[in-house]
Amino acid sequence: MVPKSARGVPRPLWALALHGGAGHISKDMKPTRADAYRTSLQRALELGRTILAKRGTSLDAVEAVVRALEDDKLFNAGKGAVYTHSGKHELDAAIMNGATLECGAVAGVRTVRNPISLARLVMEKSTHVFLAGPGAHSFARSQGVPVVDNRWFDTRRRRNKWQRTLLAEELGTVGCVALDTHGHLAAATSTGGVTNKRWGRVGDSPIIGAGTYANDRNCAVSCTGRGEQFIRNTVARDVAALVEYRAMPLADAAHGVIDGKLQPGDGGLIAVSKSGEIALVFNSAGMYRGAADSSGRFETAIWET
Ligand code: ASP
Repeated sequence: MVPKSARGVPRPLWALALHGGAGHISKDMKPTRADAYRTSLQRALELGRTILAKRGTSLDAVEAVVRALEDDKLFNAGKGAVYTHSGKHELDAAIMNGATLECGAVAGVRTVRNPISLARLVMEKSTHVFLAGPGAHSFARSQGVPVVDNRWFDTRRRRNKWQRTLLAEELGTVGCVALDTHGHLAAATSTGGVTNKRWGRVGDSPIIGAGTYANDRNCAVSCTGRGEQFIRNTVARDVAALVEYRAMPLADAAHGVIDGKLQPGDGGLIAVSKSGEIALVFNSAGMYRGAADSSGRFETAIWET
């Protein structure tokens, strides 16, 4: 039997949304580059769809999708991450299990190939929630996760951007949220942060309640944009609170926070509710994004349509 939402509308058995960053995405982008983004988003969406359609868990789906986007050099996470002020890469990631409220996060990681999987290990194999810098590396070594030289994350495109950039610029963080057929939600976000960042700067992505949040009682959220703004406004948790305490439809809650609390151009978020609603909301020029669910929805987009 197909489950019904409170309004009697059949609700999807599973739902998935992903993002590849929000920000000033120029519409003058070369069509071949836009096609490359669409292809990458579709491939990642397909990966998540396959896991959820086979009754896999939302946690496995969000980790697998984010790993794929981390390995894709188009995005600012893992391979292709932006450069810090000193010409290195420092990666942040977080994952959250909405069924248990367990979560794991890492910040300032320099050699772990897939930070999202390290975040999951923090959640599942440590007694802590958030590990940063050298401690995160020691933990990574103890878990035997694949490590690479920091230069492995290099790409010519990001290097050129770094050399041209005087002000901090961000774009291309990745994230995924999912509802599985068991009724559980999960969220994951991974990023290289902002170009030219200094002094161990950490953004919203690995901070539970700011850039990442999942709770089976309400929704799963992954954010992207000017991290400091998302931290100040505890954006992910605010959306969840509006859904839970005000019983708001997911899209209204997401718009309420993105349009009502942030400044134009700050960024956006993706979210999935416990009833399978999907929200893809941003106040920047564009957001690389995709959505799929068990009712047959499968779409990707970059700009407002
Ligand atoms: N929110 C990320 C950060 O501030 C960057 C981004 O989403 O583009 O680290």
